[in-house]
Amino acid sequence: MQPVFRFAPSPNGELHLGHAYAALRDFALCRKAGGRFLLRIEDIDRNRSRPEFEAAIIEDLAWLGVTWETPVRRQSEHMAAYGAALDRLRAANLVYPAFMTRGEIARATAKPEWPRDPEGVPHYPPVDRRLKPEEADERIAAGIPNALRIDTAGAMEFAGALSWREMGEGPAGEHGVITARPEMWGDFIVSRKDVATSYHLAVVTDDAAQGVTHVVRGHDLFHATAAQVLLQRLLGLPTPIYHHHRLITDATGRKLSKSNRDTSLRALRKAGATPEDIRAMVGLGSSGKGRR
Ligand code: GLU
Repeated sequence: MQPVFRFAPSPNGELHLGHAYAALRDFALCRKAGGRFLLRIEDIDRNRSRPEFEAAIIEDLAWLGVTWETPVRRQSEHMAAYGAALDRLRAANLVYPAFMTRGEIARATAKPEWPRDPEGVPHYPPVDRRLKPEEADERIAAGIPNALRIDTAGAMEFAGALSWREMGEGPAGEHGVITARPEMWGDFIVSRKDVATSYHLAVVTDDAAQGVTHVVRGHDLFHATAAQVLLQRLLGLPTPIYHHHRLITDATGRKLSKSNRDTSLRALRKAGATPEDIRAMVGLGSSGKGRR
């Protein structure tokens, strides 16, 4: 079977050197494996996604020399697929409506010993998980906004042992067969209050729908893999091979952000940089080979 790779940017800003590194690494690994390369626009966040950013991303990637198959998959066009995945989780009784507001969560978890996820966000309090279904239905009928969260402990019992193959490395040098520990995320969101899916749910649904065999991305998403492997198992989807890579950082060692104009590919291009200059700036040789 021919390998399938994908690059999956969110159209909420301009691409910067970090994205250039990620896209070029991904594309080079795909070429080396003789794979197909796909582009996916992750635009479920309606407030932050803009068509002009999508157009700019496509232009910048093409300028860098990356090529992909068409049509491009746009997540906002596949809400029905995410809905079907949610129905499956609901039918297995592995999700519950979560009603707490940000403020309520902050107050309930303001204790130094409260568990936090890898991004430092406090785990969701177990209050709504214990709510009687009739009570939850009443609140929904009353129009109280709710997200859907996964009952992680219940889901893990259902799923059994979980692992993935890591060909790159995690932030602490993790490599090889990695044991997935989704409990590190607590009861994570599978459907947001404002949009009927979540990053994790949309990514696993799309990776499977597109036949993705290799996920190449920055090691800031290494721990997200545990949640995604859990969802894959619950939904009966295959787990791809993962290749997490280093991040491009600024002079102070911080991850680049989309608001950092100095490293935007458009700005660098306007200032006369060539695609070869960009490769050199992110430490990739002309062949696209580089460190993990
Ligand atoms: N859309 C995500 C981002 O731009 C990447 C998702 C992924 O590669 O799994 O950070």
